[in-house]
Amino acid sequence: MATSERKAITVVGSGLIGRSWAMLFLSGGYQVRIYDNQPGQASRAITEIRKQVGELQEAQMLRGKLSASEQLALLTSHDDLSQALEGAFFVQECVYEDLEAKQAVFQAVEAHVGEDVVLSSSTSCLMPSTIFSLLQNRSRCVVSHPVNPPYYVRLVELVPHPETLTSVMDMTFDLMTEVGQTPVRLRKEIDGFALNRVQYAIIAESWRLVKDGIISVKDIDLVMSEGLGMRYAFLGPVETMHLNAPEGLEDYLTRYRTGMRRVLSSFGPVPEFDGEAAARINKVCAVWPCVPLESHSKIHR
Ligand code: NAD
Repeated sequence: MATSERKAITVVGSGLIGRSWAMLFLSGGYQVRIYDNQPGQASRAITEIRKQVGELQEAQMLRGKLSASEQLALLTSHDDLSQALEGAFFVQECVYEDLEAKQAVFQAVEAHVGEDVVLSSSTSCLMPSTIFSLLQNRSRCVVSHPVNPPYYVRLVELVPHPETLTSVMDMTFDLMTEVGQTPVRLRKEIDGFALNRVQYAIIAESWRLVKDGIISVKDIDLVMSEGLGMRYAFLGPVETMHLNAPEGLEDYLTRYRTGMRRVLSSFGPVPEFDGEAAARINKVCAVWPCVPLESHSKIHR
């Protein structure tokens, strides 16, 4: 039996991320049922998805094995939550980044679905243990944190609630892989998950260097876009260390351990990200065009 005949996924919240998830699940041949609590919003989302899927097909960038019309035939919009959840085996929540809103959504969803339906949140920085704390059955709950724009950036961080079953992590991992994403598993929850912890470390040191007058805004951005970023588009930090010394990681540590520790111990405190430094840095950014990230991806691919 084809995947599309077997399985439906409900996407709750049809903003930027909800629409992206819907397009990804469609590309995997799943029936996708979109719900939004703003009347008419889910059907407006479908109009937008139709446009995007058509454009992607024209540009030969549509993901999955099905044509645009085959994918769109699997998509429905609902203003009623219980209708939207009918037959779903997986629910991807994509409402505002607000703890109470997410808790209320999951309580409402739990009231309409069976115990084996997996409940997944797109949260960027709320902890699974708080989002799912009001639910009866937390063992089927997981955070699947995408990276904007998810249709182009494949990483998904899977973050468990302390009670999440391994089988739920495995099933979510398989689903994400099947629709062409690249899932990574965190073994337990931590504030910022993995991606934002690494991202914030880079942002903090870049900010300190500019704030302290060591380097200009333009040049610190070049340090990433023309330097570190070139490597990190292909390799992670551990593989980079391994390849950066003739005899691999041990050799790298022998050569650079002391220097790394000396430099790291000179890092300053967490920046305030406000005041004179923020005003100075903002002056530089203010002349740049403000194009949303998803448009960048379309331009660069
Ligand atoms: P958004 O503001 O574009 O969309 C939110 C949608 O949720 C709106 O359509 C709204 O009507 C709907 N909504 C609000 N409350 C609802 C409810 N109770 N029931 C049903 N629908 C409801 O937000 P977004 O950028 O799509 O973000 C959604 C989630 O994804 C957030 O948790 C965010 O942190 C996370 N996320 C965002 C990004 C990003 O870059 N935008 C990246 C990764 C994860």
